[in-house]
Amino acid sequence: MELAVKALILLLISVAGVGLVTAAEPTGKPPFRLLDEPPLGNVKLNDAFWAPRIEICREVTLPYCFETCEKTGRIENFVKAAKKEGKFEGIWFNDSDVHKVIDGAAYSLRLHPDPVLDKTTDEVIAKIASAQQDDGYLLCFFILGDASLRFKQIHRPARHELYTMGHLIEAGAVHYEMTGKRNFIDVAAKLADHVDSMFGPGKKMEVPEHQEIELALIKLFRVTGEKRYLALAKHFIDQRGNADGHKIYGPYSQDHKPVREQSEAVGHSVRAMYNCMGMLDLYCETGDEKLLSACKRIWQSATHRKMYVTGGVGATRHGEAFGKDYQLPNATAYAETCAQIGLIHFARRLFMIEPDGEYADVMERILYNSFLSGLSLSGNKFFYQNRLASKGDYRRKHWYGCACCPSNVIRVYPRMGQFVYALGESVVYVNLYAAGTGKLSIGGKEIILKQETRYPWDGRVLLTVTPPEAQTFDICLRIPGWCRENKTPGELYRASGAKSTPSLKLNGKAVSLETLEKGYSRVSREWKPGDRLELDLPMPIRRMRAHPKVKEDAGMVALQRGPIVYCVEAADNGGRVSHLSLPAASKLTAEHSPDLLDGVTVIRGKAGEHELLAIPYYAWDNREGGEMAVWLKE
Ligand SMILES: [Zn+2]
Repeated sequence: MELAVKALILLLISVAGVGLVTAAEPTGKPPFRLLDEPPLGNVKLNDAFWAPRIEICREVTLPYCFETCEKTGRIENFVKAAKKEGKFEGIWFNDSDVHKVIDGAAYSLRLHPDPVLDKTTDEVIAKIASAQQDDGYLLCFFILGDASLRFKQIHRPARHELYTMGHLIEAGAVHYEMTGKRNFIDVAAKLADHVDSMFGPGKKMEVPEHQEIELALIKLFRVTGEKRYLALAKHFIDQRGNADGHKIYGPYSQDHKPVREQSEAVGHSVRAMYNCMGMLDLYCETGDEKLLSACKRIWQSATHRKMYVTGGVGATRHGEAFGKDYQLPNATAYAETCAQIGLIHFARRLFMIEPDGEYADVMERILYNSFLSGLSLSGNKFFYQNRLASKGDYRRKHWYGCACCPSNVIRVYPRMGQFVYALGESVVYVNLYAAGTGKLSIGGKEIILKQETRYPWDGRVLLTVTPPEAQTFDICLRIPGWCRENKTPGELYRASGAKSTPSLKLNGKAVSLETLEKGYSRVSREWKPGDRLELDLPMPIRRMRAHPKVKEDAGMVALQRGPIVYCVEAADNGGRVSHLSLPAASKLTAEHSPDLLDGVTVIRGKAGEHELLAIPYYAWDNREGGEMAVWLKE
């Protein structure tokens, strides 16, 4: 009887022409996550800073990545794999770039529907789907190569078999969530089912040596409600650092001890960040406190002792890894763009579990500095490493053999609006300041929150609150760390210079900022349509000094104004900068240059006889090559 029912359900599903996923339902907000971000597209930015960049990403970077994946044989590999003919081209994990480009395209399609992009995306998905094996396996390198080695080289550095599959699974789930189309998620689910049939207790017990599939499986679980995917992600997370069942890879892959016992940000920086993202996603589903507390310890290690003033992490080229505490070389800084993106997502996840301005402060520091530097103003050149000093010999490139970074930045830009707010049952957190309009669901009603500001060049922000009718809820405004503290967490950087005094008015009346709640000013009231909050975050120029243990920066100073960290570049300073020093007494002034580097506020001062001009760090290397320095001798 039971079998007959199952058979009938399967028949109905096959008649409907759909796979397993239809039967399942999205899981909604995870039980142990306090906050949610607004759905993509509900926050529209129309500012002069992010909105043009989001457009450049959509109009230049995204098509450029599709084209380059085509030109470099990455897409053709799938066509060859479908026919089992021809030679695999490129690095073993090149499939992952194509998956990530689809992931970015899906976000972009939700933000900005575009039939041409939709068609291109579907064509590429069809090529990927055609390469999928009957059992669900999908990785071109082993389809076109030695099939007997499938899942036999999990331990081999950079084979990245499960990592690459993870990117397909994540992209499939995102594409379905953003477009409602099933063409990619069906491939993803079939692949996930295959991995599930091969790994787990009583089956293969290895863990991927590069994390990604863990968070991808949880994403697929959330979109489909299929619990097996959550269980498999938990298996991979539990199994990391567990010598019982696989040969330990060591700290390079965060496999030196069980994840719940880890405390330090170690090893390959992208893996370390993706590892924490997976752990926090699992925490949100299970409430396993040990996962959360381990992530909080790793967060402190990464951001209190191992982070550049630009927000960069993963200091050393050797192993693309986190260095020791306070080991932060400038000219050889690795700070891979993917690691910056990982830390943004690590910060977002922690914030939505335990709202704290420290997480949003770090997210902001990365976004405006070491993330933004990863892409040229033109939108088609990329940094892999985000160094803090240069002789002019390291420049952005149009592409890389290992193209993880280009295909990663396009997954962030379309989501910028989402990062601005976080929503609770009767609270909205304002995490970032950028002109635009948000449609935010609070207490089942749609609140319109409009921001008018010239941030990040000017710290005055006008927020207009429009509930459909009078409604009681809280608005928590982030008072950024740079505006209220003279140090960053862990005292890794100390600021001097004029202290900023933030102020807030509600409908013209002053609101005290004496007492903050973890960096937020909470305004609770019955909001009426047209209520106005005026926030003023003054932006004096601040001289930053690193912790005395950061030997590389001893006796040196970096400049920061608002969230923007500055650098000096040869192009503005007579062709050289390495000899420049900035005396403590030198008066510094800020001035907006609308025609320079797409519009930037520059800093001017005297370095001895030299008229020094500093530009935002993110904007360097967009003209002729030459020296650059963030830290200057004082
Ligand atoms: Zn990368």
